[in-house]
Amino acid sequence: MARKTEAAGKKREKPEPRNPLPRRDPKERARDFEEVALGFDEEAALAEARRCLQCKRPTCVEGCPVGVDIPGFILALKEKRFAEAVRVLKDRNNLPGICGRVCPQETQCEEVCVLARQGDPVAVGALERFVADWDREHGAGVLSEQGGRGAVAGGKVLPNRREREGDHRGVKVAVIGSGPGGLTAAADLARYGYRVTIFESLHAPGGVLRYGIPEFRMPREILDQEVAYVESLGVEIETDVLVGKTVTLDELREEGFEAFFVATGAGLPWFLHIPGENLAGVYSANEFLTRVNLMQAYRFPEYRTPVRVGKRTAVIGGGNTAMDSARSALRLGSEVSLLYRRTRAEMPARAEEVENALAEGVVLRELTIPVRMLGDKEGHVRAVECLRAELGEPDASGRRRPVAVEGSEFDVPVDTVIVAVSQSPNPLLPRSEPDLETRKDGRLVVNPETGETNMPGVFAGGDIANDAGTVFAAMGDGKRPARAIHEYLERKQRAASESG
Ligand code: FAD
Ligand code: SF4
Repeated sequence: MARKTEAAGKKREKPEPRNPLPRRDPKERARDFEEVALGFDEEAALAEARRCLQCKRPTCVEGCPVGVDIPGFILALKEKRFAEAVRVLKDRNNLPGICGRVCPQETQCEEVCVLARQGDPVAVGALERFVADWDREHGAGVLSEQGGRGAVAGGKVLPNRREREGDHRGVKVAVIGSGPGGLTAAADLARYGYRVTIFESLHAPGGVLRYGIPEFRMPREILDQEVAYVESLGVEIETDVLVGKTVTLDELREEGFEAFFVATGAGLPWFLHIPGENLAGVYSANEFLTRVNLMQAYRFPEYRTPVRVGKRTAVIGGGNTAMDSARSALRLGSEVSLLYRRTRAEMPARAEEVENALAEGVVLRELTIPVRMLGDKEGHVRAVECLRAELGEPDASGRRRPVAVEGSEFDVPVDTVIVAVSQSPNPLLPRSEPDLETRKDGRLVVNPETGETNMPGVFAGGDIANDAGTVFAAMGDGKRPARAIHEYLERKQRAASESG
């Protein structure tokens, strides 16, 4: 097998260790919402790029849900052809500054990088971030659009927005939801030449990237810049429009939209359904993070959104949402315990974020199962009653199941609890379109190759259709349906011209 030979050929030399990504001092960063990871400087980026073996059959590309030419952009970077590195990266990835910061590369491209078999994989995510930041700092990207040089796609420079006005085929496509799935599909559809409008229910675009992930991981400046890049391709964004309530799909059809991409995400919080969960001081992570991030409660009194965090906070869960909640509560001045029913090894959160949270002072209480919340006379939470757990046989997720130890009850004293156990798909749109087929868990049934639903012209992707629950997976889910929508509209046009 060619891949084996290639790896074997490199086997004699153990790869140099990977260049560490600099981060701010944990004590200092735990007190503010500024970005934690600082990114590579040019010297470190070039050194890391030199570690890449430029494999003939790059396994890393197979691990990338949007199929970025990883060795291609790394080669251009290594040779200091920075603008070319940007071009190669943006050819497949419309949101590289975001991906370079929040994608779990350790379970995607980096996991299957050939160097991972002998040592550290190439730091693909950090290089992606470096290239995206170079683009932003050097006025390429969005500025190239506004300045009239045009965005790049498929190795060609596209005409700028004004030149493209007449280029649209007059065919309107609606994208519902402006998270990574919606933004990616919209950008690709605009590149195909369609008139694309994104409808977003919140007052600002970005989905979880804006209302869920805090500034210290996803600076809003980067998000704004990448949203502006998508707009520069010709995409219109209408905020404060709740599709299914403010306007229905039928009404949008009457307005001339011929195809739809639904990317409404999974923002409905789960609760534990244990006694005391309705006490004052108990938040869902969704509500807590939306107050802190979207409504900028941490900038009180400049922003007048209240968020009450007491002296001791318990966050329940072990995923990215739990980590973001814990680190936000810490920054709001609380002592934070993370109650997790399995152990650190089974945590679904990005490894880097768990490490960051613990370094900042979040205390992890492993093998801890909350069973009840206890209140004071005023109805405010004062403790979480828990049981100790042991790990049993693996469950459907492949992780060992926590088994409660009888009689091991203990209390964790708290003033605030944040429940961050999981989310379900947003139900509003599926409910308003009862003909749309849904799964038991509320997700839309789609063709996995095309994202097509059972309703002609309606496609879907991201967390509303799949349970991968990552930014990159949502972006991959935006790319495939964009192509399928293009093919659907071409077939429709052909049929119309044949019959007419
Ligand atoms: P979303 O990002 O959920 O966006 C959906 C959008 O649709 C929202 O803006 C919503 O307001 C809008 N909408 C909903 N209903 C309607 C409607 N009826 N009409 C109009 N608009 C509507 N993944 C990672 O890879 N790395 C991470 O570090 C990471 N951290 C995370 C941290 C948190 C706190 C959370 C909650 C998730 C995290 N994830 C992470 C998961 C990742 O963010 C999601 O998988 C991803 O955002 C899903 O993208 P999406 O486009 O499907 O939907
Ligand atoms: Fe090979 Fe890893 Fe470089 Fe990809 S990133 S080309 S797998 S060495």
